[in-house]
Amino acid sequence: MNNYYLQFIKNHLRDDILQEITVDKENYPLLLKELNILIQKVDFEEKVKNTSKTHMIRDRVLYKDRDNLCKARVWNEGYGGQCSQKASCNGFCKTHFKKGGINWWLGTIDGPRPERPINERDKIHVWLN
Ligand SMILES: [Zn+2]
Repeated sequence: MNNYYLQFIKNHLRDDILQEITVDKENYPLLLKELNILIQKVDFEEKVKNTSKTHMIRDRVLYKDRDNLCKARVWNEGYGGQCSQKASCNGFCKTHFKKGGINWWLGTIDGPRPERPINERDKIHVWLN
């Protein structure tokens, strides 16, 4: 991670950078790609900072594909991830087992992610990543 770019972007200049690069993007495909990745990271960090305790986004890499954990996919404010609870009922935690297990509205982490999941209150959700 190049700290210079990170600081640059964090100082609210990223829109200016993007505009400049877009003009000659044929010449800077790699730089553009790198910049987009950085912007996504910064956006994610800002989003994490700005969420309340009840709607906190967690980096789910720690829980990724862990066999001993519940295999239910969690919403994680649109970023998805694996439930961090212990699997005690057929591969699910008690909560997700009670809420439908294999029929849980966000599916399981060993299966495909539903494209437009609909929760228990019939609300359509759109992933942010
Ligand atoms: Zn669970």
